[in-house]
Amino acid sequence: MAVCVGDNRARRPRLQEKSLATAVWLASLRRMNRRAFLISSGAAASLALLGRGRLSAQTPPAAPSVPVAPPPLVTEFKLLRRNVGLFTGQGGTVGWLSNRDALAVVDTQFPQTAAVLLRDLPGRDGRMIDAVINTHHHGDHTGGNAVLRPAAKNIIAHANVPELMRARAEADKRTLDPALLPTLGFPDGYMQGFGDETIAATYFGPAHTRGDIVVIFKEANVVHMGDLMFNRLYPVIDRPGGASIRGWIKLLEKVAKDYPSDAIYVFGHGNPKFGVTGTPADLLVFRDYLSGLLAHVEAEIKAGKSKEEIQKLENLPGFPDFHQPPGRGNRLPGNLGVAYDEIMAAG
Ligand SMILES: [Zn+2]
Repeated sequence: MAVCVGDNRARRPRLQEKSLATAVWLASLRRMNRRAFLISSGAAASLALLGRGRLSAQTPPAAPSVPVAPPPLVTEFKLLRRNVGLFTGQGGTVGWLSNRDALAVVDTQFPQTAAVLLRDLPGRDGRMIDAVINTHHHGDHTGGNAVLRPAAKNIIAHANVPELMRARAEADKRTLDPALLPTLGFPDGYMQGFGDETIAATYFGPAHTRGDIVVIFKEANVVHMGDLMFNRLYPVIDRPGGASIRGWIKLLEKVAKDYPSDAIYVFGHGNPKFGVTGTPADLLVFRDYLSGLLAHVEAEIKAGKSKEEIQKLENLPGFPDFHQPPGRGNRLPGNLGVAYDEIMAAG
């Protein structure tokens, strides 16, 4: 699928500036042409799909169809505190550090947005990225690893991540690009100085998967939770990837208690109404959802309901901020199924 990547137009120098700026401008013009190509190839792809649809459906179209290009992908860099910020585009929220001595990135989204991240990372100016850190193995957090790899000294993740990436690729029947794999793994904790900033990452056991870490930028006082936080959204609970709802509940309680109460917490995903940053209170709202999910499914099992009956629920009572319209894309039935399996496996 063709995707149109966003751009930070404000960074483009004016035409009148001297020759180096003109060269930069020409390069950005070439990028713009490339984007235009992507938009038009997206339109062509839509047209081709429409054509196939008509043939297979064997029904005449009701009205002339106008092919619609995919919506432009909006990307944004936002400074949070000191030299630490976030980047949003497509997939899990990226955290970044950019100071005089070092660059670091937490998570890499997908290739298209990773290219924007690499090109426009504040203060990069051709410098190598000292560390790319993956919060866990999922593709919307590691899919840009191969794009950042030539510019990164290391790609760091929990020690379980390579095995989880391989297992997921095998389950999806696709070949894993070795350039996506981390270059350094750690079992419990990692800490490194980056100029006047220190980054520490800690593993608290299985939760969203069995390879999630909590990353803290100590001086900026910013905590990146990766997918350990879905802010007012039914989460992905990756049971084949080793998830544990009970472990997740304990982890959120521990982080809310032990990490700084005045830190800015960055979330992998957030309900647009609530955003991708917050406080320990948000962690406890999500903890309450996971506890409520387990309690609900336990009560249904006691009432004699089957897994299929339990999964018919469209929204979990008591959590209106999480509610989704019925139909495709609602992860609650999946959450209920995973909760059922976890309860039954525990006996
Ligand atoms: Zn994830």
